[in-house]
Parts: sequence; structure tokens; C-alpha cells
Amino acid sequence: MSKTNEEIIEEMQQVVAQMVIDDLEENPDVANEYFDCDCCGKNKCMAGSIGYGTYRLCNDCVLLAETGFALGKFTDIQSLIDAMEDSRLEELCQFIKDEETRKKQMDN
Ligand SMILES: [Zn+2]
Repeated sequence: MSKTNEEIIEEMQQVVAQMVIDDLEENPDVANEYFDCDCCGKNKCMAGSIGYGTYRLCNDCVLLAETGFALGKFTDIQSLIDAMEDSRLEELCQFIKDEETRKKQMDN
């Protein structure tokens, strides 16, 4: 029953990508709406963003958050925000990047 990390990441990437599609279908105007992400601090599109408590995360960070939760890297959004400030998250980001690289190589 247990999924591999690769399967979890792949599933999360699909789920999170779908959020952008759903948001745009529901309200096409969000494509032109931007906000400052509470996690990465970048000015990002509202489409696919999610509010976690008092924080609003961009779609890229939602992927990190949801993947992190799924992999048990952290259990609440505050941990992700805190982790953004040190190297722990880089490890997780790297893991996702490696997986994307691996997939691209397989596609070629
Ligand atoms: Zn972000």
C-alpha cells in the first residue's frame, strides 16, 4: 500500500497543477491578480495559491507544502515558513528537482 516518495511527489505535482487550472476555470481574472507569497516572498499569481491560516502561499510553495506534508517532512505550515529560512527546505526542494530531472530524462 505504501507509496514511494517518487509516486507521492508525482501525485502532488498533478494535484497542485490542477489547482491552477481549477482556479482559472472558476475565475479567469485571477490570472491577472498577484500577491506577495508569505513563504517565498515573491510576487506571484493568485491562481493556484492557497491560504493556510493567516498565510497565503503561491502555487510553487503549495507544492512544497503539500509534498512536505505528504512526505512527513513537516506537519504544519509554520514549519515550512521557518524552514524557508534555513537549509532544511533546500533538501526538500532538491528532492523535487531531482525527481523532475529524472522524469525529463525518461521522457527524452
Ligand atoms: Zn511562494
